[in-house]
Order: sequence, then structure tokens, then C-alpha cells
Amino acid sequence: MSDYKFFEQVNRAFDKAAAYTKFESGLLEQMKACNDVLHISFPIERDDGSIEVIQGWRVEHSHHKLPTKGGIRYAMEVNEDETMALAALMTYKCAVVNVPFGGAKGGIKIDRNNYSERELERITRRYTFQLMKKNFIGPGTDVPAPDYGTGAREMGWIMDTYRQMSTEIDAEGCVTGKPLSQGGIRGRTEATGRGVFFGVQEACFNKEDMKSIGLDEGVEGKTFVVQGLGNVGYHAAKNMVDAGAIMVGVAEIDGSIYSESGIELDKLMDYKKETGGVSGFEGTQTLKDSSSVLETECDILIPAALENQLNEKNAKRIKAKIIGEAANGPTTSEAHEIIKNRGALIIPDNYLNAGGVTVSYFEWLKNIQHVRFGRMGKRFEEDSYKRILSVIETVSDRKFTDKELKFLAKGGGEAELVDAGLKDTMVNSYNEINELRKIHDVDLRTAAFVNAINKLGEIYEQMGIFP
Ligand code: GLU
Repeated sequence: MSDYKFFEQVNRAFDKAAAYTKFESGLLEQMKACNDVLHISFPIERDDGSIEVIQGWRVEHSHHKLPTKGGIRYAMEVNEDETMALAALMTYKCAVVNVPFGGAKGGIKIDRNNYSERELERITRRYTFQLMKKNFIGPGTDVPAPDYGTGAREMGWIMDTYRQMSTEIDAEGCVTGKPLSQGGIRGRTEATGRGVFFGVQEACFNKEDMKSIGLDEGVEGKTFVVQGLGNVGYHAAKNMVDAGAIMVGVAEIDGSIYSESGIELDKLMDYKKETGGVSGFEGTQTLKDSSSVLETECDILIPAALENQLNEKNAKRIKAKIIGEAANGPTTSEAHEIIKNRGALIIPDNYLNAGGVTVSYFEWLKNIQHVRFGRMGKRFEEDSYKRILSVIETVSDRKFTDKELKFLAKGGGEAELVDAGLKDTMVNSYNEINELRKIHDVDLRTAAFVNAINKLGEIYEQMGIFP
């Protein structure tokens, strides 16, 4: 759809929610505006010696908190409007989950499959250099992270480029989602997908809400369809399956598959690695195109690919009772109304996929503190638990087995603390927005925007307009 305007879509949802807040229109306009938009064109040398000009963007949507934060996407669909919309979503998302950053986003318009690893490295390093030149990157200014088409490898290149040219002691905190050996944090790769799961699970734990959409409480036994088995989709699906949900459908670029009795995720991942797609996977029905499976019968639909996937063309045929927006902007405002009016619960992107930036926040804290979480407390905690357990043994005459001791006296290391922090964030934020949903009698997306606008508005009111 060429007339699709993503930034306008985000602002439409914002405006709807703003009606439930008390802020004056000028302040609301300031909240919506993208503060800085950078468009760069830079040359890179291809492996065959030819020169190609690459287009890239970085948008800092809001400076109400610093640094600004948001991923960098490598895709042919990247453009200024998309980057602005995604940067704005980052602002609201961070506010909803109380991550103290402004929103930003970056993108490079390339199909990464057309470039060798060396070429991708040159593109990434040159892009970073351009960001540095314009002061669009730094641990206290703007901190990128992975997004569609990028991962830990690219973040490692960004960090290395930045560090080579900076004398800052906190240089490692200039980007998150890095490899562990370069200042990354345990659990970041899985974080967005795991956060999606925690959010969906929290929604499913609410007996009353489930009853209102004709479902039982809990994730176990529920059927789901996932669109996109990239990093986010895979980890969301894996957590759902581990909790006892049944994956009945998968959509990928090459096509979509369905099986009422369930699809084995890990076998499918092996198959995808081998063949490059999901079509033809044993024991499943291959549907006519990659989006058909979105319209099949299931309890939960998890779009985990790109924006504009549930739109006015297919919304009427979407049957899922819960839509878990793992991607950014998967549902257009028109589709949102159609799906909502049918009685489905839409768990919105501006809350549900915030697990990634939440753990990015932990990574950034680790980098600027220069110490791994748990490094100082873990052993102390374990020794304390052991002392308590030994008193229990003495008074109760019961000896714990080695296995029990190991379990009961476990202290919080980095992985455990990150996971606990992520779960706490997703659970608390869900309940915060669900409460607002009931107070204002709105949907969860509007409630999340109301929540974000209230938090932003309070900050803006207190800080005033400078000068
Ligand atoms: N790209 C991810 C998002 O859209 C993560 C951003 C971050 O970690 O800064 O939320």
C-alpha cells in the first residue's frame, strides 16, 4: 500500500488517547513532534571495487529524557516516514515501561542479503562514523540497538567504531544488544520475545478479561499463530510453546503453514535453516500465500514481522481472540477498529514489545557502571541462604539433599536478575495499562498512550519550555 503513512498512523492513535488527558494542545504537539531528523547518503566500496551510495536515517523523536534510544533497521522498506514513526513509538514505549529514555530510531535502506559480511561491516562502520560526526550517537546522547535486519554482530561493529574514535570512559554504553564479550548482557537476544510472552501470559491470567472474550484463564492449551520467525517471533513462540501453548500456524516470507495438531518449533527452525523457508514442512498444510495463515482459526495471533500487516484488506477475516503485537505497528488504525469491534483483545506494540528496550536499559546501566549485575552480591546472598538453611536443618532434624541446597541457596546472577527485572516490568506495566483501560473504558492501545502522555506531560510541565 503506497499511500500508507506510518507516522500519521501513530499520531492518530496518540490523538485518540490525548482526549483522555488534561494537557493543552501546544504541549501535545510538542510531544508528537520528531525533535531531530537526520538523513545521510554515504558511499561504500563494494567487494568488486565499485562504489555505491547508501541511504540512511536516524531520528531522535523526543529529548524529554536522555539518552534517546531505539534500534537500527536494515531493510529495503526503510524511509524517513517509517523511521519517524518508529522513533515516536520508542518514546511512548519507554514511557509505558518506565525506561528513562527518549525515543529514537535508525535505518539503512539495504537488502542485507545482497551484501557480503565485509560489505555490511563497511556500511555499519561508515554509518556509525556519520552518526558520530553529527552527534547522533553516544552513551549520553543517543544509543542504538538491534532491530529488523540487524543483530549483535552489527552492534559490535558500532561499538568498536565508536570506541576507536572516542576517549570517553563510558564508550561501551554507546549501543546495546552487543555480543557478551563486547559489553553485552545475558538475556538481551531473547528479551523482546520473552517480554512478549510475559505480556500475553499476564493478559491470559486475568480470568475476568479472558471470560469477556470467551477464553479460559492461562496460556496452556491455547492455540497461536506467529508471523515471522526472526529473533522476536522465534523467542516469543518458544516461550509460548514451553508454557504449553500450541503453535498451529506460521507465516514467513516464502509462505505459510498450518496444522491443527501443532507444529514442532525446533524441527521447523532446522527445516527453515536447510530450505530457507517454511513451505512444505512435514505434517503441515502449506497455504496459498504468506499471509493466509493470519486468517485461520486460533486463540492468539502474534504478528512479529513488520508494520501494516493487519490492515483494512484482511482485518475482517482475522479470527484470533487475542492479537499480541510483537512487531512495531503491525495493525493499522482502521484494522484496529475492525478487530476490536469484533470483540478481540489487542495487546499493543507500544507496551508488548518493550522487553527489548527494557533489557537494553539494563545493558546500558551495566556499561556505565562498569560492573556485571550480581557480581558483588551473588556469593553473599548464597552464603546467607546457606546459613538460614543450616539453622532449619538443625531445628527440624531434616537434611537437605545437594540438589535441594543448590536450588534453595541460589543467588541472583546476571541472567536471573535480568529475567526477573524483565518479568517485573512487563507484569507491572500490563496491570497499569489494563487499569487505565477500565477507568476510561477504552482499548489497551489507547490506555497505553494515555499512560505515556501522562508521564511525558508531567515531565514537560515541570521542565517548561527552554529558554
Ligand atoms: N529495536 C527494538 C525496539 O523496537 C529495541 C530498541 C532498544 O533496545 O533500544 O524496541
